[in-house]
Order: sequence, then C-alpha cells, then structure tokens
Amino acid sequence: MAEQPNLSTPDGLESLVCHACGADSLSVFDQSRGLAAVTSDCRAWPASFLVAICPVCGLVQKVVDAAWRQSASRIYGSYDLYHQTPGRTEQVIFDQGSGLALPRSELMFGHFFRHRPLATSGTYLDLGCGTGPTLTAFSKLASGWQLFGYDPHLPDAQRVLAIPGVVEVFAGDLREISGKFDLITAVHVLEHVTEPLPFLQAMRSLMHADSRALIQIPHFPSSLFDLAIFDHCSHFTGSSISQLLAEAGLAIEAIDIELIPKEISIVVKRGEPHLTRPVGDQAESRAAVVSSIAWLCALQAQAIGVDTEHVGVFGTSIGANWLHGLLAERIEFFVDEDLSRQGQLYRGCPVLAPNAVPGRAQVLMPLPPVTAAQIRRRLGSLSADYLLPPGDTFIN
Ligand SMILES: [Zn+2]
Repeated sequence: MAEQPNLSTPDGLESLVCHACGADSLSVFDQSRGLAAVTSDCRAWPASFLVAICPVCGLVQKVVDAAWRQSASRIYGSYDLYHQTPGRTEQVIFDQGSGLALPRSELMFGHFFRHRPLATSGTYLDLGCGTGPTLTAFSKLASGWQLFGYDPHLPDAQRVLAIPGVVEVFAGDLREISGKFDLITAVHVLEHVTEPLPFLQAMRSLMHADSRALIQIPHFPSSLFDLAIFDHCSHFTGSSISQLLAEAGLAIEAIDIELIPKEISIVVKRGEPHLTRPVGDQAESRAAVVSSIAWLCALQAQAIGVDTEHVGVFGTSIGANWLHGLLAERIEFFVDEDLSRQGQLYRGCPVLAPNAVPGRAQVLMPLPPVTAAQIRRRLGSLSADYLLPPGDTFIN
C-alpha cells in the first residue's frame, strides 16, 4: 500500500472555493500534483492538477484556478472525441441484459423507454451535443419528435442540423435558451461543467412538470483513471450527485450505477429546490480518492521503472494514453485485441495483436487489476512479459 496522501491547504492558494456549493475551505490532496494527466478525448496532457474534496458538500473536484481553466479551454479548442474509433462513432457498451454490444446512447434510451412508453411526438433537447451521437440515436427512435441540440463549444453546427428531426442547435449561454422540453439529456457533460449548480438550475428551468431529464456521469470510485482526466473537474459519487441535484430542485426518479459500467445513470424530474444546503457524506469519497491516487502513483512508478528497451502498452484508450504522457518515445508499440486497430499506427507506434508481440518485450497493462488479470489468463502462454498492474484484484 502506498503512502497516504496528505490533506492540507497548499501555500499561496488563498481561496480554494468549492465549485459546487461555494464553501471556501477545500481540502487538497497534495500527492495528486505528481500524477500524469490525460484528456477525456484520450490525449496525454502535459499539465499538473490538484484534487480536492469539499468539507461541506463532499464533492471530489479539481481545483479550478486560472491555470486549469486555460488548459481546459485548450483541450476543448482541439477536442477530437472517438478519434481512435473507426468511423468516429460513439463508444460501444456491452449490455448485460440483452447480451448485445450497443452504442452508449442506444443502451441508455432502450433502458429508459423500457419503463416509459415513447410518445408519438414531443420536444427533445440534448445538452452538450457535440457532433450529435446522442441526437442521432434518439432520431432513429422517435421520428415524430422535434430535436434540439446545445453545446457551448459547438464544433460543427451543420453536421448536427443534418440529423433527421433536428430543428435548431444552440451555442453560448444555456440560460439564454427559452421554452420547455419534454425530454432533456446531458450525457457526460456535468463532470466538465465548472458551475454545475447554475447549469442544473438552468436545465430545470427548461423543464415542465412532466418533463424528464437523463443524466450520465462517470462514477469515480469505480473508474480508476477518472481523477487523472484533466478536464473532468467534478468526480461524483452517488451521494455527491444526489446532494447537488437536490439543491438544484431536481427530484431523482431513478439512479443506477449498474446499467453502464463505471457510470451513474440518473432520471430526474422537476422538484422543489432545497432551501438549506445538504451536507454530503464524505467518508466514501475520501476513501476512494486515497485509494485511487495511491493506485495511480503505483502504476506510474511501475511504468517509469520498466527495465527494457522494448516497452509495449496494452490498449489504445484512456489508460494507454495516460501512460503515453509518462513514457512518450520509450513506447515501442501498443497491443490491442480489437481487430480493427491491429496493424494501424497509433501515436506513431504500431498496434500489434497479442500474439505478434516480440518475446523480449515487456507490456504494461494500464487497466483495473481484475480486468488485467482476466486478460492475462486469456492470453495464456505468450512469450512476452505482460506486467500486471499493481494492486489487489479487488480493485475493479
Ligand atoms: Zn462543496
């Protein structure tokens, strides 16, 4: 077990204000300064960050200061989601219920409409629509609906407007949108928002009494790289998101951390705002931060200490890119079981099938220990040295 991070307020930072509740006494985890960073669109990011927890509302968060904002703005200015997926479609999730591999949005809507019949017409607004994967999935389901998109950093309005059913796309300030919508989605948006309470309050003002909103966010205690994702400024638990929604006047109709692995899926409707600020339970969050930072530190130490000239990295997603920031040109190749990626170049290095890895190489596995152990067993007796990540197999 690595040394526990210190909890303190760093010198020179006069104001450490919680970006969810405004409390001005954030506790900082100093050890997070030494961690490598990666962006949510899977690029190594050469800047340090500071993880903190709010002693009032319990939200785990990045310290959002001028340097963080500057970096985040550069990240969004060059955002390239799904660059590693052929066709640039959205992430595919294995549905435990149906046994099918489905795009994330289809899985989310399928689950939602299983319990609530889809009306023949209505208005739908997707917050943080990007290039429109969620709008596209909804469009296939609901041909009689009017669709709207919103994104403060709208990358390609024409592409979104070309999706069948889309009437209008909005950019700029969310509070300037008028009218009410029957259904609203915010899929992987809230963890990026530096003022989440006003954002949720604005979302509430776009809902009538029968509206529903679907929110998806990472569940940080089960998502081992979440703290290292630079542009994620909030790291939610079931408890901390529930506090925030209550304060915004949104009533939870359903909350699920099983539907999509490592994510929290929530259905909300309009409720009454809480007049007093709810106090969050911090024990779970604090323990999750300590173990997450310790694991990332240990994984970094393992990678830096690899003693061979032939270094490979297993995978081509978030963990692999995080290691790419640490090791850069020391990486000779990537290894991926995905046939569509094998034989390609990735970050300037070849992507090899597991059985094509040279015998003298060492392959780092930046994956949760349970997953890495399963893969290692499945690969069987290959000659390369596959290095299991540090940690016990209970970390999944
Ligand atoms: Zn707070």
